[in-house]
Amino acid sequence: MTLKLQMLGTGGAFSKSFFNNNALIFDENFTLLVDCGVTASMALHALGRSFGSVDAVLITHIHADHVGGLEELAFSMKIQYNRKIPLYIADSLVKPLWENTLSGGLYQDGAITSLNDVFDVHPLQPGTAVDLSPGISAELIKTQHIPGKDSYSIYFNNRVFYSADMTFDPELLHQLVNERGCEVILHECQLEGVGMVHTTLEELRSLPEYIQKRIYLMHYDDEIKRYEGRTDAMHILEQQRIYEL
Ligand SMILES: [Zn+2]
Ligand SMILES: [Zn+2]
Repeated sequence: MTLKLQMLGTGGAFSKSFFNNNALIFDENFTLLVDCGVTASMALHALGRSFGSVDAVLITHIHADHVGGLEELAFSMKIQYNRKIPLYIADSLVKPLWENTLSGGLYQDGAITSLNDVFDVHPLQPGTAVDLSPGISAELIKTQHIPGKDSYSIYFNNRVFYSADMTFDPELLHQLVNERGCEVILHECQLEGVGMVHTTLEELRSLPEYIQKRIYLMHYDDEIKRYEGRTDAMHILEQQRIYEL
């Protein structure tokens, strides 16, 4: 069964020309929203879609460009669609997502007092693949992003790596390709400067060509046009375009 990808946005945290780096991963029967940032509902609207057309949401880490749209998603599901959407999230992020991020907006005495009151919460353990639908499986891989903050990449269908936000980890990329048969790498990319909490284009360019060929760049800033033709064997992902993975 073919797995498809449509980025709702490919922008980095400060991008103004692109929506937040959120993705739709889907097949004929199921649509997964990967991260739900501040711009997620607008990005869906730009495609003529809404939260109602999404079957589940998976969260990689707690930053506004990845979770800032969850309050609207939760209220929209409760009030407009009268259903709880499955929320896939690392076990370690369930408590902080509610206590540090969402309770302020969602809390309602006797009605909404936990994440479970608005989402069908599925806590995930890193390193264990879970079937989200008959055609889509996801395994969380813990990766480094911000010191002291849990963040996860995703391995879809045992062949597609989705970096989310992470610092450069060439060992992991080599291992995925050489030992686990990874075919496609959707990787965040900081275009300029030192990679303090992200992976830079320069770092990715140090990878061998057979790995670069599998890499599609995302989570970039507004200057990406200037880098066309300067990404070696790597491809630049376009938001809203549909790719077959
Ligand atoms: Zn981000
Ligand atoms: Zn982040």
